[in-house]
Amino acid sequence: MRIKKNDTIQIMSGKDQGKSGKVLKVFPDQGRVLVDGLNMVKKHVRPRKQGQKGEVISIPRPLNVSNVLLMCSSCGRGVRIGVREESGTKIRFCRKCQKTL
Ligand SMILES: [Zn+2]
Repeated sequence: MRIKKNDTIQIMSGKDQGKSGKVLKVFPDQGRVLVDGLNMVKKHVRPRKQGQKGEVISIPRPLNVSNVLLMCSSCGRGVRIGVREESGTKIRFCRKCQKTL
């Protein structure tokens, strides 16, 4: 997984194609990421207690990482990233402008 929590990503497919958002959570074992405000799904909630109303809430659903690209601040859009090792630490970089991300 090259996407980490708090990354800003852009969605490349589906109904939110082209939109960007912040990664709230990653699910490495499923290869999915949860992005704030994107891939929203309406969920109907039943009243649990007496006097409480049932309502429709919108919640974000996890997206497959293969459908998202990391945003590059200099390119201003989602880009393919590469990983290289520099003095023992892995560094992600933009394949387009070589900027470290
Ligand atoms: Zn770039």
